[in-house]
This record gives sequence, C-alpha cells and structure tokens, in this order.
Amino acid sequence: MRRRTVGVLALQGDVLEHLAALERLGVDARPVRRPTELVGLAGIILPGGESTTIDKLSRAFDVREPLVAALRGGLPAFGSCAGLIMLADRLIDAHSDQQTFGGLDVTVRRNAFGSQVASFEADVDVAGISGGPVHGVFIRAPWVEQAGSGVEVLSVVRPDDGHPRIVAVRQQHLFGVSFHPEVTRDLRVHEYFLGMLG
Ligand code: GLN
Repeated sequence: MRRRTVGVLALQGDVLEHLAALERLGVDARPVRRPTELVGLAGIILPGGESTTIDKLSRAFDVREPLVAALRGGLPAFGSCAGLIMLADRLIDAHSDQQTFGGLDVTVRRNAFGSQVASFEADVDVAGISGGPVHGVFIRAPWVEQAGSGVEVLSVVRPDDGHPRIVAVRQQHLFGVSFHPEVTRDLRVHEYFLGMLG
C-alpha cells in the first residue's frame, strides 16, 4: 500500500502525543509549522492546546492562509479540543480578535463545561467507532452548541445538568472531538480519522 503522510499542526499543544499515536499506527507523521510542510499530506491533525495561541501562531508562521485553503480544498482534518475550536465556523466565548480556520458548519462554545467541571473524564460512545465506548479526557473542553444540517453528530455526553452536549462531529472531510484521545493508549479515534483519508 502507498505510504501516506499525515501532518500534525505543531504550533502549540499536544503535538508529540499525536505524532506518537500516528507512528504507533504505522503512519508517516510530520509536524507542520510552515506552508511548505503542508505539501503532499493525506490529512492533518489539529491538536488540543489553547486555541487563541494556535490562532496567533498560525498567523505569525504564515501557515494560516495556506492551511485554510487546503481545508477548503478538501484536505481531511481531525481537530481535538482546541483543534475542534479551530475548525468551527462560529465560536461562543471567543476572544474578541480570535479567528478560526473554519470549515465545520458548527457553533462551538469554548470552555463550555464551566469552571466547576473544567476537566473530567467520561466514557463516550462514538458513532462509527466499534468495540465499546472511548475514554474521553476533557480538559477545559468545548462542546458543539449548534450543528448545521450537513453535520453528523457522532457523540454526546450528559453532564450533571442532564442536557445532552455534542462532543464529536463530522462533516465530510472534517472531524472534530471535544476530548483528547492522544493522552490515552486507545488508538481507535486516530484509526477512525485514518479511515477518512483517500
Ligand atoms: N480551552 C481551550 C481553548 O479554548 C481548549 C482546551 C484544550 O484544547 N484542552 O482553546
């Protein structure tokens, strides 16, 4: 089979953990900071971290515009936590000058689970991932407040207030989760993304 290279946006956040997960799955993985590093990728992971910082650094490294163009052109992308925020078309509780890369027709609320439960772990069922629930590690996590009609909702959690909250979505070549699969040993979420690659 043809070797595929998957990039990991390496501006800030859980870059090494995603590179390690890809390597464990036998995929060539490459950190991406510069526009030239986008060339030839089969897909890209946008790691969790701090979305305001990722936004600023993407502009400082001049990688923002080519990355946005690549996403618009169909480059498969998987965003985790802050990475999901970066894929969202609309944000709630963003900084005033905060921009996203966009592409996912969703409204994402930052730090949505509130300060009381800023970080927690929960087993979550994800549509399309078999073999039982995925252990979700949520760290100052966002949720998807509203999803457009073309967006598949893959997973919800029910926090203490009882309202189901969307924590995984897919729209064609774009996939995002609120949690951090790269900090667990479970590779199924990364495998799901690899299954999206051409
Ligand atoms: N709260 C962070 C943000 O808004 C995301 C947290 C994370 O990626 N773990 O960017």
